[in-house]
Amino acid sequence: MTVLSYVSDQADSAWSTYLAQVERVLPYLGDLTRWADTLRHPKRALIVDIPLEMDDGTVRHFEGYRVQHNLSRGPGKGGVRFHPQVTLEEVMALSAWMTIKCAALNLPFGGAKGGVRVDPRELSIKELERLTRRYTSEIGSIIGPQQDIPAPDVGTNAQVMAWMMDTYSMNVGATTTGVVTGKPVHLGGSLGRVKATGRGVFITGVAAAQRIGLEVKQSRIAIQGLGNVGSISAELFYQAGAQIVAIQDHSGTLYREDGIDIPALLAWQREHGSIAGFTQAQAIRHQDFWLKTFDILIPAALEGQITEDRARSLTCRLVLEGANGPTLPGADDILRNRQITVVPDVICNAGGVTVSYFEWVQDFSSFFWSESEINQRLDTIMQEALDSVWLKADSLKVTLRTAAYAVACERILMARKDRGLYP
Ligand code: GLU
Repeated sequence: MTVLSYVSDQADSAWSTYLAQVERVLPYLGDLTRWADTLRHPKRALIVDIPLEMDDGTVRHFEGYRVQHNLSRGPGKGGVRFHPQVTLEEVMALSAWMTIKCAALNLPFGGAKGGVRVDPRELSIKELERLTRRYTSEIGSIIGPQQDIPAPDVGTNAQVMAWMMDTYSMNVGATTTGVVTGKPVHLGGSLGRVKATGRGVFITGVAAAQRIGLEVKQSRIAIQGLGNVGSISAELFYQAGAQIVAIQDHSGTLYREDGIDIPALLAWQREHGSIAGFTQAQAIRHQDFWLKTFDILIPAALEGQITEDRARSLTCRLVLEGANGPTLPGADDILRNRQITVVPDVICNAGGVTVSYFEWVQDFSSFFWSESEINQRLDTIMQEALDSVWLKADSLKVTLRTAAYAVACERILMARKDRGLYP
């Protein structure tokens, strides 16, 4: 195994987590193992400088990235993250998880991801627009509807995608809606895209709960992160009769024994920008979130949140990974030994990229589907993906994560093998 010169040897990094996950699937790949090293090598990584004129006239520089991890099965696909802690290595891991995710769902894409090291909350709307446009222009040579299709992720949204689409279109001289997904619906976006990731968490969560004999109605749920994924998941589980007892975001942690009133909390969040100050639940200490009693945990924030210590003390029976890479490899082992079922990120949060795929197809054909058609197709794809991964896990006697990797890596490496090496 070769080690990349531009990667740190930090044990808890997202890239190390990804490599450890790949290591676990190797025994199940048979002859395809010959090609497995390709999974450890991102195909292409672009680092760009983004000089930005601030509203006060000063100029600041931001670091941006676009990584195409693997393109064996199709164009690159994956979001763009605006976050102050983004690094090249993190984006590499996120792009690799997209490769696995698209293959696990059998979407005709490779994996890619982008990011800018910036706190978007500190920028004015005009600064955010200029940053997005310059970033898009800088990565313009490697993206495109047939090359690599960005989408929203942490810190970006439909408006950011509209600016990206416009900038790319201006540069190539033709309106090119299919260059990004997650756009506003009136600009070639897809109905159902905004809610798709949360909806996927809910669909796979209900199916997984049923399989392990857990009743979703009246179950107790804890959710970390109340962004797009966390809030939609919270809403759907709440509507299904579950009690959301604990919620954590960047501003604090809330707890209510009988379940938090989710519509009231989301209204509060819309008005105040965070959950801080919401009085219809008790504010508790950050670390106590992990010690409360609940049946289902939904990490829907950033990577590396479920550490070994936290895995040892968790009381739940089911973990639904709304975030990408929330569980460290050591914690994964502890959860397995404690018979806590983990629906891995590459299946659980794949609803977003699945509807992104629908959006891309709709843009190509210029024919748009109804929301119920989209939701039905999404439900079917997610159910079938979970079913086949569950079957694989049972037959190999491995975790759902390793089973998902087995299904995905087989598809990726078959494509690699059959395409062969050029030249
Ligand atoms: N950022 C989302 C993810 O991590 C969606 C990516 C996409 O739609 O391309 O899966």
